[in-house]
Amino acid sequence: MRKTKNWEYSPAPESTDHIKLKKQYDLFINGEFVPGVEGRYFDTINPSNEEKIAEVAEAGKADIDKAVSSARKAYNKTWSKMLPKERGKYVFRIARLLQERSREFSVIESMDGGKPIRESRDVDVPLSSAHFFYYAGWADKLEYAFPGRVAKPLGVAGQIIPWNFPLLMAAWKLAPALATGNTVVLKPAETTPLTAMKLAEVIQEADLPPGVVNIVNGGGTTGQALVNHRDIDKIAFTGSTEVGKYIMKAVAGSGKKYTLELGGKAANIIFEDAAIDQAIEGIVNAIFFNQGHVCCAGSRLYVQEGIADEVILKLQGRMDTLIVGDPLDKNTDIGAINSKMQLDKIKMYVDLGKDEGGTIYQSSCSLPKKGYWFAPTIFKDVSQSNRIVQEEIFGPVLAIQTFRTVDEVITKANNSPYGLSGGVWTDKGSKIFKVTQDIRAGVIWANTFNKFDPGSPFGGYKESGVGSEGGIEGLMGYVELV
Ligand code: NAP
Ligand code: MG
Repeated sequence: MRKTKNWEYSPAPESTDHIKLKKQYDLFINGEFVPGVEGRYFDTINPSNEEKIAEVAEAGKADIDKAVSSARKAYNKTWSKMLPKERGKYVFRIARLLQERSREFSVIESMDGGKPIRESRDVDVPLSSAHFFYYAGWADKLEYAFPGRVAKPLGVAGQIIPWNFPLLMAAWKLAPALATGNTVVLKPAETTPLTAMKLAEVIQEADLPPGVVNIVNGGGTTGQALVNHRDIDKIAFTGSTEVGKYIMKAVAGSGKKYTLELGGKAANIIFEDAAIDQAIEGIVNAIFFNQGHVCCAGSRLYVQEGIADEVILKLQGRMDTLIVGDPLDKNTDIGAINSKMQLDKIKMYVDLGKDEGGTIYQSSCSLPKKGYWFAPTIFKDVSQSNRIVQEEIFGPVLAIQTFRTVDEVITKANNSPYGLSGGVWTDKGSKIFKVTQDIRAGVIWANTFNKFDPGSPFGGYKESGVGSEGGIEGLMGYVELV
């Protein structure tokens, strides 16, 4: 039984009986599961207990060659020739199958990646099928998306995704690419390959022509081989700014198109006239949602001076009620950190924050013995130049500063190499308009945070990326307008 300050909850674990997982997963090439040419496999583990779930084939250069040539063949022979409304039907079919199997996908996502079942069930999986539904609808209406122009597909897209929203990132990438007539080679992240493998099953079940979608697993070297492959027309990447910069250099001069969704360090701004209790929930959602493994996490909090003490006190109280533990338990607010590597990175930044003179407060929760865990953490007494204020930590760690005026907080919010997202909490519409116009970030939420819809574009300024995903803008990354 978990104890929180106010309540005691009995365990409410989601059942895993209905999950069908194989011990071994191969590569998905040309509509079939095939072993890698070099026969290498790597383990994927459950980060909440460090147990191995399955082993997954690792794609080498020769496998990437096979996947790209099957995508090319499918592009030339079937997918680019098919009537758009027929293409749309396949994408609709993927959306519906995903919806039907949503429980299975949610549980596997939480097992493989460590996120609470409440999030994979209520956010990741429904939003993934919503993206397929949304882009399926565009397939035969591109002339309305781009009036007076003809939207032609680019060809074969190489797509590389991270581990924080494994299925959702796959959906963000695949849905617009397929709807516009491209074929795909997708590389999931090494620590979270399983929902992509289950998606391969859905793609088979939806009867997509072989080679339209190919899924190859592996780490950075596999991703590199895909980026550097000569017969790729477009690279779509979501991940760190560091790897994004490498990709930009690698494709320079090659004629390959690219879109990059990279890191963030969002400012979440609370004005004195905000509804404080709502704002507290907003802060919790902004930074502790998905263990802070969110590119758009509100990891820099700016509180107006007059309410700073009250907000911090209330936030600490709320942090003490958060339930950290078994990702499959429906009461869990905060699950496991995705990998040992990520946990070490978070610990490194927390030590750094202390060295930089920050005052730390951590939730008074007990953490499970096995697995990778980190308690919700906040830092006060930090300054703009501190590394924990400037750099992306990608964990449940919040840096708090105060401000006095609107102009001051806008300057502080913009003092960042990133520009992906932000939040503003106030009772005044005029402040919302001022802040959202003057902060350079792709999305700024007002009196809410982390709200997503397939119809809204998402993308960053500055070192947060190039291009957008979602909405009509998301189609643009996959078409040439003539
Ligand atoms: P990452 O290390 O950059 O990895 C992202 C993907 O790229 C993974 O599939 C990774 O494979 C692969 N990769 C690694 N090195 C590569 C290389 N040299 N060439 C080609 N591919 C390579 O990022 P991460 O740590 O997984 O994810 C966290 C980052 O993603 C954060 O910075 C976060 O802000 C960002 N993110 C951004 C958005 C957005 O929409 N802007 C959304 C989600 C996440 P392996 O994982 O197998 O090494
Ligand atoms: Mg895993």
